[in-house]
Amino acid sequence: MQASTLTLAFAVALLASMAVKLWLATRQMRHVAAHRDAVPAAFAATVTPEAHRKAADYTLAKGRFGMLSLALGSAVLLGWTLLGGLDALNVVVRDLVQPRWGNLAYQLALLTAFSVIGAVIELPLDWYSTFRIEQRYGFNRMSTRLWLGDMLKGAAVGAVIGLPIAALILWIMGSAGSQWWQAWWFWAWVAWVAINLVLLVLYPTVIAPLFNKFEPLPDEALKTRVQALMQRCGFAAQGLFVMDGSKRSAHANAYFTGLGAAKRVVFFDTLLKRLSPSEVEAVLAHELGHFKLRHVVKRMAGIFGLSLVGLALLGWLAAQSSFYVGLGVNPGLAAPNDALALILFMLALPPFTFFISPLMAHVSRVHEFEADAYACTQADGSALASALLKLHEDNAATLTPDPLYVRFYYSHPPASERLAALPAP
Ligand SMILES: [Zn+2]
Repeated sequence: MQASTLTLAFAVALLASMAVKLWLATRQMRHVAAHRDAVPAAFAATVTPEAHRKAADYTLAKGRFGMLSLALGSAVLLGWTLLGGLDALNVVVRDLVQPRWGNLAYQLALLTAFSVIGAVIELPLDWYSTFRIEQRYGFNRMSTRLWLGDMLKGAAVGAVIGLPIAALILWIMGSAGSQWWQAWWFWAWVAWVAINLVLLVLYPTVIAPLFNKFEPLPDEALKTRVQALMQRCGFAAQGLFVMDGSKRSAHANAYFTGLGAAKRVVFFDTLLKRLSPSEVEAVLAHELGHFKLRHVVKRMAGIFGLSLVGLALLGWLAAQSSFYVGLGVNPGLAAPNDALALILFMLALPPFTFFISPLMAHVSRVHEFEADAYACTQADGSALASALLKLHEDNAATLTPDPLYVRFYYSHPPASERLAALPAP
């Protein structure tokens, strides 16, 4: 592979993905704006014109912000790669760290410096999204203090978990041999899968409680009802918890977390406040559907399969000097380039994988329909319908998205399609 071929392929993918994203965002905003003043006929009885207009304005505000983020993100990506940002950072960190502390310290320092700079660039965007957009539409519940605290805690957790993982992966990359069974990318993949499974167990019990309070579901009547549902569905979970989601946002949610016997059901307090017991039951039945229909396992298998392909590709690319040169970086001759390869790969991959996102979104939407159908066999279908409508309204999700935008991005079908697929009450 020639360096100039890679440069060209990357530039074309970046420009093409940007053009498609801009086109889709414009379509979506035009479509929503054109339908801002008329509630669709199917929702005329259930959605007020005010709620409909609020959803349109919220969608438009997020759309404009998304365009700004896209422009900034693309500029940063170009800055890191073809304009030489990563190369400059690499030279500084390498000269500073490697002679004194060695190869591993240099590579960890490079990964850390890259992550910190990336996070600092993201900071104003996150602040604007939380304290301008979410705030304006009444969703934000965070103070600046909590926002800052979250950020510092997130960085600490990221360092405590991320640095040992990075050290392990770099060690595997550095000790690869020339035999086929010594290929680093395969063993890195094995380690990656194992780490993910461990994190799946640790997340609900150790990590999530650092950010939120989890209390056992206090409502006995609801608890009995939910346990009866889980028994009907043949589902074992270790506990039912309420999370103080209202600490940060008014958006409502419910989810399953954990693995095997350590699974838990988590309700946001905002969800319990808003939905009736039969609606909570229906929402939970939908989530159970994802487990019973093996969506969760299929999804994980898909992600693990794709990461094996990705790592194999990186295994091949990392050994070619044109991979580095083509993306604007000079590989070192006296130091390992594994951290550099990891960073470049993370930067260069998204413009290419963007074009398979409609496929992933499609699979996800099919799963949502299936889980809805399952929920209707285990709980009350009309309760599911009213719950979906309430959640849609509370999240100010638009009822009139652009159909093509939906095909590309929506992991959940729009409300109109979802409600239409439910059996008539
Ligand atoms: Zn779902």
